[in-house]
Amino acid sequence: MEATRLSSTKPVQALKPRKTVSFDEDPLTKVSDALPLPLYLTNAVFFTLFFSVVYFLLSSWREKIRTSTPLHVVNSSEIVAILAFFASFIYLMAFFGIDFVQSLVFRPLPDVWISEDEEENEVLLCKEDARKVPCGQALDCSLPPLPAQAPIVSAQKVFDEKAVTVLTEEDEEIIKSVVAGTIPSYSLESKLGDCKRAAAIRREALQRLTGKSLAGLPLEGLDYESILGQCCEMPIGYVQIPVGIAGPLLLNGREFSVPMATTEGCLVASTNRGCKAIHLSGGATSVLLKDGMTRAPVVRFGTAKRAADLKLYLEDPINFETLSVVFNRSSRFGRLQGIKCAIAGKNLYMRFTCSTGDAMGMNMVSKGVQNVLDFLQTDFPDMDVLGISGNFCSDKKPAAVNWIEGRGKSVVCEAIIKGDVVRKVLKTSVESLVELNMLKNLTGSAMAGVLGGFNAHASNIVSAVYIATGQDPAQNVESSHCITMMEAVNDGKGLHVSVTMPSIEVGTVGGGTQLASQSACLNLLGVKGASKEVPGANSRTLATIVAGAVLAGELSLMSALAAGQLVKSHMKYNRSNKDVSKASS
Ligand code: ADP
Repeated sequence: MEATRLSSTKPVQALKPRKTVSFDEDPLTKVSDALPLPLYLTNAVFFTLFFSVVYFLLSSWREKIRTSTPLHVVNSSEIVAILAFFASFIYLMAFFGIDFVQSLVFRPLPDVWISEDEEENEVLLCKEDARKVPCGQALDCSLPPLPAQAPIVSAQKVFDEKAVTVLTEEDEEIIKSVVAGTIPSYSLESKLGDCKRAAAIRREALQRLTGKSLAGLPLEGLDYESILGQCCEMPIGYVQIPVGIAGPLLLNGREFSVPMATTEGCLVASTNRGCKAIHLSGGATSVLLKDGMTRAPVVRFGTAKRAADLKLYLEDPINFETLSVVFNRSSRFGRLQGIKCAIAGKNLYMRFTCSTGDAMGMNMVSKGVQNVLDFLQTDFPDMDVLGISGNFCSDKKPAAVNWIEGRGKSVVCEAIIKGDVVRKVLKTSVESLVELNMLKNLTGSAMAGVLGGFNAHASNIVSAVYIATGQDPAQNVESSHCITMMEAVNDGKGLHVSVTMPSIEVGTVGGGTQLASQSACLNLLGVKGASKEVPGANSRTLATIVAGAVLAGELSLMSALAAGQLVKSHMKYNRSNKDVSKASS
């Protein structure tokens, strides 16, 4: 997540002298973290000190009993010994005792943003909004009792039920052939007719070839048949990415629990906080402005005049009907919407836009474009097709054409955040947010010369939701184009916040969306597969959810920046207690 901090924009409350966080306040901080010397050294010193003074005090005690001297009469060396005893005792308790007590008494906080007055805030906020929001959002975080008919099946048991691939002697022979190069690794699936076995053999052959272990990269637990010819070639396993949940996001009157696949600490918690602020303010509204996937082939002619002839032909409304009939033959769902042309000398770039139902639509639009190119060849035999994609589309590259014209789904999403929610949940003020947005997301981005990057971290949320829901993560480039606007409303008591995202490229059928885990995440959002009622409704809803989640993410990060909380929370949640140097050995 972005790590910029603008101290000049801190609200008044944030300018109060910061309290040093004591160990008692921060349950994740261990007392031993404060020691300036290596642990083994301080441990040795205090152990020695402790036992020496105990020995000394016991000896002098025995001596006093022997000489009938009262025990409370102590000399200076005994005073020093008693002080040393307490010091070493406190050290040893702190080191060995308090950490243990802390681990029993304290639990990590469920909400990264919670603070001393959070509970009070939530009471206040919930009084305003009589509706009780779910766990992670409001006061009641207790788990509901499990229904009697729902026995808990342990993950271990589920795993055991799956056959673990065991390599046979026959497999051993194939592995040797792959290592020797007599069987190509890519042909294993077709040769064996068993995708999982093929993956296991390829993996073993790879380990032998490279001499590197793949322990840690799971093989079991993925349906290898489901990725064949669709998602990934030559698989050897899969990478695990944790999925967190942000929400509920109250959007257009519906609640969505937004799955986010990420390894960036704070991101889900932060988005969750944004969802909470939106929810407590009555929800967000998202409007789909456009829905059309694009593909732009490049063709070359002998002269610029001929290229211009084709441009005029394609853009003439009289020809549109014929072209759309030809284009639409490719699919039940692909419907040509328009063609926009650009000329560079004698080269022509034709940007076809079409609706694609619930599919993200790259394949669909490409097929339609191919139909039209074949058709045009009759009237323009001198047209030389150089490539079905001439980068005027523009796919997976930052491009002004997407920013201005849109690609996929163009969405605007807005909310009015109540002033007290800004104060109590986001811990900042409307004024600070508006000022920071102007200086960072608008002016700062202009100074940097960004393309579609007038936001704080839209790509963080887009990428996490894309990975969780089986979208093409590389399309994060243009899908994250976003301008975030903030304005004070209602006499400065409320904050109008909006995100405008012209090129969100999502689908709920095709590609990675049909894989089990991604499909489960789509199901959670209620947008799994093709919409039965209105083709395209699921993917359009998904696009509005992406924009809504970005709105939440923008609100929360901007607030953290305005209140100067960012570094603190990152230090707390991105830095585990694990010794990374040991873990990597
Ligand atoms: P993409 O075009 O996003 O690359 P694919 O071409 O792989 O996706 O997947 C789209 C496929 O799904 C097409 O074959 C299409 O006919 C089928 N399909 C089924 N239902 C729908 C729907 N509601 N919207 C779009 N495509 C659908």
